[in-house]
Amino acid sequence: METSSNPTSRREFLRQSALIAGTALFSPEAFSHFHIGKKVKVVVIGSGFAGLAAAYALKKQHVDVTILESRSRVGGRVFSHIIDPKEKLTVELGAEWVGNSHTRVRELCDDFKLELLNNQLDTGLIYRNQYSKSNTWDFSADWKPKFTSLLEKYKTMSDNDKMQLDQIDWWRYLVNNGCEGKDLMLRELLDSTDFGESNRHVSAFVALATFAESSEKNEMDLKIKNGNGQLAQKLAEKVGFENILLEHKVKRIEQKDKVIVHCDNGKTFEADKNICAIPTFAIKRIAWEPGLPQEKLDALDQLQYARINKNALLFNNRFWKDESFDLITDQTPHYFYHATKNQRSRKGVLISYTIGEKAESIANQNDKWRKTMVQQTLGPFFGNVKDQLESQANYYWGSDKISHGAYAMYGPGQWFKVRPALQKSFLHTAFAGEHLADWQGFMEGAIVSGETAALEMMAT
Ligand SMILES: Cc1cc2nc3c(=O)[nH]c(=O)nc-3n(C[C@H](O)[C@H](O)[C@H](O)COP(=O)(O)OP(=O)(O)OC[C@H]3O[C@@H](n4cnc5c(N)ncnc54)[C@H](O)[C@@H]3O)c2cc1C
Repeated sequence: METSSNPTSRREFLRQSALIAGTALFSPEAFSHFHIGKKVKVVVIGSGFAGLAAAYALKKQHVDVTILESRSRVGGRVFSHIIDPKEKLTVELGAEWVGNSHTRVRELCDDFKLELLNNQLDTGLIYRNQYSKSNTWDFSADWKPKFTSLLEKYKTMSDNDKMQLDQIDWWRYLVNNGCEGKDLMLRELLDSTDFGESNRHVSAFVALATFAESSEKNEMDLKIKNGNGQLAQKLAEKVGFENILLEHKVKRIEQKDKVIVHCDNGKTFEADKNICAIPTFAIKRIAWEPGLPQEKLDALDQLQYARINKNALLFNNRFWKDESFDLITDQTPHYFYHATKNQRSRKGVLISYTIGEKAESIANQNDKWRKTMVQQTLGPFFGNVKDQLESQANYYWGSDKISHGAYAMYGPGQWFKVRPALQKSFLHTAFAGEHLADWQGFMEGAIVSGETAALEMMAT
């Protein structure tokens, strides 16, 4: 795991991680000193992509691994849901897109023969009660070249420049660089869907790095056929379902000569090492003996998670017509996208994806209210959509009992301070999870962080 606080680009880290995850470093020699003469036991907490990837990497080296998972399913924030069993329509209530740059996810899909389908969309816009189809609207001629030059400038920034940039928020950075009026509003509507909260809360470094280093469609490129949860299932098969204990919520961790992990169902597990692959809210809920260092406790208290609500709307026909349909709006439902692209049926699903306060407000209402709201936004341009709505599935991550948010959101001044503190291992425990990764907020980051934690464990 990367523990230095030196600024690296996401790509630099990805290269290091790809090396780490590659066969050369996962050769038996890399692990030999770890288990010479005895069978080492590792407990992994969490069966999200980070925990599963860590366990799989260890299992490949014949380490005795047990995963403890509090939910009754594997996958964590990857949460595929069959919304229409008869039509076999699957939607993602958690992670949606695999990016073209997400090397490890793509390699694993390849290894497990999981098909990745194109899931790129073309974005329309409803702004001030006017609907513009995709490719008929754009940023102003004044702002477009300015934004391009900011992305270019990022490539030549020194580490010091990046740390300076991290001190302010993305909204302020845009304003300081000449973004105003409608351009500023559009950036807010678009970028906040990436970060899950307003641009005013996000570190300018994190945002600029994201856009400068991402694929053309900002990593919204692909999706696993039959649901992203397929990858969790395959990883779990490789780890062995007998080694994954569901409904085992860890409540106390003692670290002496060994690690003793206590679950709230009364079961106790002893191991040589422990990988804690859970979100920060959940880490804080565990009673650590001895207690976590103050630096880590402070970091756990400082990091916020994005509030995202996904309202999946099953319609009896695809009135939006274009299979690659998505739509950003300046209204309450915020962002609609076609969530059943490549799934054959007359029926189809639009997901209304909302962030921040909008997400909380929608989550607090009932299906009837949400139906009226969707009609209000789409009706003027698509007619009577409410009578075509068959059912809804709504999931609000802001009140998810375990993560209390969709993914970590690094605010100003946090990337180079909070993240390194969270990455540090503690006694026999290494940490993993999307919040620690360079591809932070992505399945890719979770996987790489898990594999890196496994490697780090082998090396100590
Ligand atoms: C709405 C939404 C949209 C997203 N969109 C995308 C996207 O388009 N593309 C993308 O790549 N990523 C996306 N993500 C992010 C992606 O889902 C995460 O980065 C990734 O799945 C996190 O994996 P993880 O293993 O770090 O954590 P998790 O998946 O949260 O796994 C942690 C696991 O630990 C378990 N756990 C927690 N506490 C305990 C305990 N005390 N004892 C035992 N078990 C415990 C949890 O139940 C959970 O299963 C999205 C996420 C959300 C929620």
